[in-house]
Amino acid sequence: MNDEQFLEAFVRIPSLSGQEAAAAAFLVAHMQGLGVRAFVDAAGNAIGEVGTSGPLVALLGHIDTVPGDIAVRVADGRLYGRGAVDAKGPFATFIRAALRAHESGRLGCRLLLIGAVEEEAASSKGAHFVKERYTPDFCIIGEPSGWERITLGYKGRLLIRYRLEQPSAHSAGELRAAPEQLVAFWRAVEAHCQAFNQGRERVFAQISPSLRQVASGGDGLHDWVEGTIGLRLPEGVEPAALAEELSALAGGAALRFESMCPAFRSPRSSALASAFVRAIRHNGATWLLAQNRHRRHERGRPGLGLPDRRLWPRRLSARPYAERAHRTRRIPACDRRTQ
Ligand SMILES: [Zn+2]
Repeated sequence: MNDEQFLEAFVRIPSLSGQEAAAAAFLVAHMQGLGVRAFVDAAGNAIGEVGTSGPLVALLGHIDTVPGDIAVRVADGRLYGRGAVDAKGPFATFIRAALRAHESGRLGCRLLLIGAVEEEAASSKGAHFVKERYTPDFCIIGEPSGWERITLGYKGRLLIRYRLEQPSAHSAGELRAAPEQLVAFWRAVEAHCQAFNQGRERVFAQISPSLRQVASGGDGLHDWVEGTIGLRLPEGVEPAALAEELSALAGGAALRFESMCPAFRSPRSSALASAFVRAIRHNGATWLLAQNRHRRHERGRPGLGLPDRRLWPRRLSARPYAERAHRTRRIPACDRRTQ
């Protein structure tokens, strides 16, 4: 099986968040067939270990996808299919590149391949599980930033689940209907974010709110409304502190906060970033820096994001081992119907 066949077979296995078992088993069997020590861990992650000595470098990608079927096909040298870009392509690249580096005899480190489950779900089950188990010297996240790009930071995240139940409001009465109360809360959240964003030109420095879901109903006696609001956070905004501020705007509604994750940015001067810059130049491209690449549905080709200290808060200070793994032939892939 060559690189392209491997990626296509991987993309053909549906792996919605929470239903990754078949994809994980496929990866483990593939890695074992190539002589790699591989297993499915207790969280369901596909794990592979390459190399026996030197610093530990984690190559992490998620193997789950969001819903929405995209027929898998190859056209004009491009592979189309759900997850081809986000993020099966990058993780397939990690596996094949790790093997190549090992076989070349120049691998001066241990590589830990982690195909994580449930990244596209609020639970982030796979990442939370490995965070407790490993303490790598470097961590490289495979996400679709483009092979010639380096993603140094991610915005933080806060998810608000809103629910309000109240006696049914008469349309001519004083009491505002339940859906109106949710709309009022959403507007208050927007205004709160706008006030914070005043004078902050760069998107990476702003709080970005989005209204994700709304549902309402009633039985004639009581009405209810539910909604989900997502917020992407800049550096310096603590999710818990923001949650407390927004709680004050919710009136009588019940709020539940999820996915509380602060923003992270690693320095441009890190050994890992330097290694990637050299590797990108070596492969003939001018490298680009990205700080605000959203993790989901990003336009572009499979690439490598780095590093994610939400997972491993360790200082980056060793030698640039990563560039070897980066020198692999790019497999064009498309993850969107529109491309
Ligand atoms: Zn992703």
